[in-house]
Amino acid sequence: MRDIVIIGSGCAGLTAAIYAARANLKPLVIRGHEPGGQLTLTTLVENFPGFPEGVQGPELIELMKKQAENFGAEFIEGDVTSVDLSHRPFTLRLGETIIETRSLIVASGASAKLLGLESERKLLGHGVSTCATCDGYFFRGKEVAVVGGGDTAAEDALFLTRYATAVNLVHRRNQLRASKIMQDRLRRNEKIKFIWNSVVLDILDPAQGAVTGIKLQNAKTGEETFKPCDGVFIGIGHSPNTSLFRGQLEMDEQGYLITRNGSRTNVPGVFAAGDVQDHIYRQAITAAGSGCMAAMDAERFLEAEH
Ligand code: NDP
Repeated sequence: MRDIVIIGSGCAGLTAAIYAARANLKPLVIRGHEPGGQLTLTTLVENFPGFPEGVQGPELIELMKKQAENFGAEFIEGDVTSVDLSHRPFTLRLGETIIETRSLIVASGASAKLLGLESERKLLGHGVSTCATCDGYFFRGKEVAVVGGGDTAAEDALFLTRYATAVNLVHRRNQLRASKIMQDRLRRNEKIKFIWNSVVLDILDPAQGAVTGIKLQNAKTGEETFKPCDGVFIGIGHSPNTSLFRGQLEMDEQGYLITRNGSRTNVPGVFAAGDVQDHIYRQAITAAGSGCMAAMDAERFLEAEH
């Protein structure tokens, strides 16, 4: 029987682990299917306080994990397959393994969204990617497309100019959602071409097992065109990893967990932190802050019981 289990090992989960471990609660962190969370998929983080020259995302995560381990946090690999939050202790299953816990912090984050095309699914890992920093290297000397108009797409497009000969930013409107500083960087970069008002109808060619181009439709005129390219990066945002909790924890219509009064969910003893409950700020530092809140809320909850 555990006092506290943390689902997720990104910024939120690891900060919760540091705080819970320092409170002598010996937290168990379940690392999940994307260990380290989204920071492990990024390169230089320039806005995490304390690193004037910036810090590599994976390095920052590794430091947080070490810090939690130094205070006694335990980690297990794997993904939770089901949860029962209907009574305490709560029960979590990881395949054959069953874990019981008095309190739970959900920090399972959010994952990249896809366009929903059959060809996209077939070509994922064969020229279609959701992670420019992971796969950009494979497109050295090639032409790629990035889909989306937010900061993710902007960051991906800029990163890809390191390798690709040209980066086509395909956006369904004629105005970017990305922050002004990113927009300026995009416009200053000669390798980046904008394809406005365009929806991706299809990615070719699943029959060849490789990307040869994208079929586009102009959202205003309806005109269809074909843009040859060797890779497609999908940067259209994220959706929260909450399917496990459907019917048990309150969530909004997009599936983000609803927290009130700090990090509390609708189930006493269950707390939520990071991107799984935040679709507004979604920053490493806000995720870390909410992980701290969740650990403190869980500690107080357990204390009140004794
Ligand atoms: P956003 O929701 O901000 O942007 C998603 C983009 O994808 C929008 O331009 C949207 O179009 C487009 N889009 C969504 N669905 C589709 C679809 N089905 N087909 C085509 N286009 C689609 O998500 P981001 O991941 O970019 O950013 C999320 C948050 O994280 C933001 O607050 C952002 O600032 C932050 N962030 C910060 C970074 C940094 O500081 N370095 C890096 C990455 C993210 P439309 O505009 O028409 O809605």
